[in-house]
Amino acid sequence: MQNETAIRMAIFHWLKSWEPWNGGIFSGSELNNGIQIDDRRITLKGQTGIWFPQGFSVPLSITTSNKGPYQLDDIGDDGLVTYAYRGTDPDHRDNRGLRDAMRTRTPLVYFKEVQNHKYQAIWPVIIIDDFPGQLCVRAAIDPAYRDLRPGTQFGDIDVSPLDVRRYAWGQTRHRLHQNAFREMVVSAYDDRCAICRLNHPELLDAAHIIPDSDERGTPVIPNGLSLCKIHHAAYDKNILGIDPEYRVHIREDILLERDGPMLKHGIQELDGSSLILPKRVAERPDRERLEVRFTEFRSA
Ligand SMILES: [Zn+2]
Repeated sequence: MQNETAIRMAIFHWLKSWEPWNGGIFSGSELNNGIQIDDRRITLKGQTGIWFPQGFSVPLSITTSNKGPYQLDDIGDDGLVTYAYRGTDPDHRDNRGLRDAMRTRTPLVYFKEVQNHKYQAIWPVIIIDDFPGQLCVRAAIDPAYRDLRPGTQFGDIDVSPLDVRRYAWGQTRHRLHQNAFREMVVSAYDDRCAICRLNHPELLDAAHIIPDSDERGTPVIPNGLSLCKIHHAAYDKNILGIDPEYRVHIREDILLERDGPMLKHGIQELDGSSLILPKRVAERPDRERLEVRFTEFRSA
């Protein structure tokens, strides 16, 4: 069995390898199932917020759920996250673990629930302040702990300056919002593409009806559409449009093209079809926003 530091680094490596595929979002069951390292299976998060795998002296992860009692946990304007102790006893083993992580500058993973048992992995996070009187610690994401060589001692790493840590949290917060929007929209459509019904979440995006660069382009479900990668790109490029009556239109010049099965079945034959809508009326696409966007499609 490898030592605690090597296992922790292997877990960071595993999280990193998934980022391009899932944006760092994991289901609760994936995290509970964990990963196999040599002859051990390591669970990545615990039932309570502060998690020590068997034999670990310092916690591996901290978790916040949307519904949990730990309302204090959040990312502040100073770019630091406040994480509440477990319970009210500063000497509880879990709370001492947070202090040990601070003392040894051991990086942790912060799992933040973004939607129904889906968690954003935020790492590497180091504990930088302890407030026993307020029953909480303060943590920073520190990129200096991201790419570590085997044999590295955590205590030997220079903590990044404050502005670097603030910038890292700013980036993370942005990603958190985008991922939360994606999870909300895709689940409103029961993990299907609104145009072709494709039921593979790993191939689905949340498309904005009004882009987020526009002030009306807010990240709310009625400004979103769950679309597969092809239909998302086709919508963004005005190859297809959606009118306020939820009908799909394919651009005229595209309808005249001749090509393989993707163009024929995946695009041209969808002309005039109806959008698949969320069951809840409040989650359906906003007709006014569709209208604005459809006008733009018409003039393309
Ligand atoms: Zn599709």
